[in-house]
Amino acid sequence: MPARLIDGTAIGEAMRGELQGEIRDLKRRGVTPGLAAVLVGENPASHTYVRMKGKACDEAGLYHETLRLPAETTEAELLALIERLNADHKIHGILVQLPLPKHINTQRVLHRVDPGKDVDGFHPENVGKVSIGDPTGFRPATPYGVQQLLVRSELEPTGKHAVIVGRSTIVGRPMAALLLQDGPGGNATVTVCHSRTRDIKAVTRQADILIVAIGKPEFVTGDMVKPGAVVIDVGVNRMDDPSLKKGYRLVGDVKFDEVKKVAGAITPVPGGVGPMTITMLLYNTVQAARQWARERDGEG
Ligand code: NAP
Repeated sequence: MPARLIDGTAIGEAMRGELQGEIRDLKRRGVTPGLAAVLVGENPASHTYVRMKGKACDEAGLYHETLRLPAETTEAELLALIERLNADHKIHGILVQLPLPKHINTQRVLHRVDPGKDVDGFHPENVGKVSIGDPTGFRPATPYGVQQLLVRSELEPTGKHAVIVGRSTIVGRPMAALLLQDGPGGNATVTVCHSRTRDIKAVTRQADILIVAIGKPEFVTGDMVKPGAVVIDVGVNRMDDPSLKKGYRLVGDVKFDEVKKVAGAITPVPGGVGPMTITMLLYNTVQAARQWARERDGEG
């Protein structure tokens, strides 16, 4: 039997609908959640992502600003902009679109974002909170979205063996932290693989839940998956396709047509993890605005 499709577009839309009540409540208190996206340089994929995030803010009724800076921007100029956004009361969430140009120290920039506005969850304070399971920490949007996909598809990770392929600070590592947490959406037995893992197929074949985030088109093939496993494909890769007007198509890190015949459930690319990432960014921005309003009103 072919795998059940996990529809991130539908789950993401439903979750954005659920967020509307909270956004209305905040607006009644005079607070419109606001997101600032900072984009340095001309990376076309980054421009697309930031545009999609802005559109999602518009649709949800959030305020947003996109600050587009030239590739030659100095680190000092970028840090000064971050400071300005940290102090701006209209802005509750700041995201710095990665990658930054090579002459800028990414960590220094991410560490300058006020942890209370760090809706990407990349500041060490939030990384630490997420790793100890403190719910006041911002969970990075992509792994948070994967966790929601699992929970809302009734694929609760508790007691399952989750194998994560990829150990980036954006996806793999925080994914492991979330699935390890003691509570709903967590309680998995977690294994993390990376480029030095030996005999990766022997590991991936043990997974009840296989999450792949490596940026290698169609890396995971059918023989790497245990029959009936849940497969979450985080990868987004452009593959040349001259038959399409834009000249490329998007594929994941999983060979979808092959793996769907083996897996019990699978996410498509596009339409799986991507829409959830944007949804969770909105959630984090609303969480940031709620916390800001509490502090403003002396509610602690
Ligand atoms: P990244 O920072 O490049 O990290 C890639 C990870 O994969 C590294 O840990 C690397 O191992 C590991 N890896 C590379 N080749 C491998 C191999 N042959 N076998 C095992 N592990 C291997 O990538 P990322 O930022 O996590 O992104 C991964 C993918 O997810 C990309 O396609 C990206 O576009 C996509 N993505 C999608 C979303 C979304 O919203 N859908 C969000 C973020 C990222 P080492 O550490 O040993 O080098």
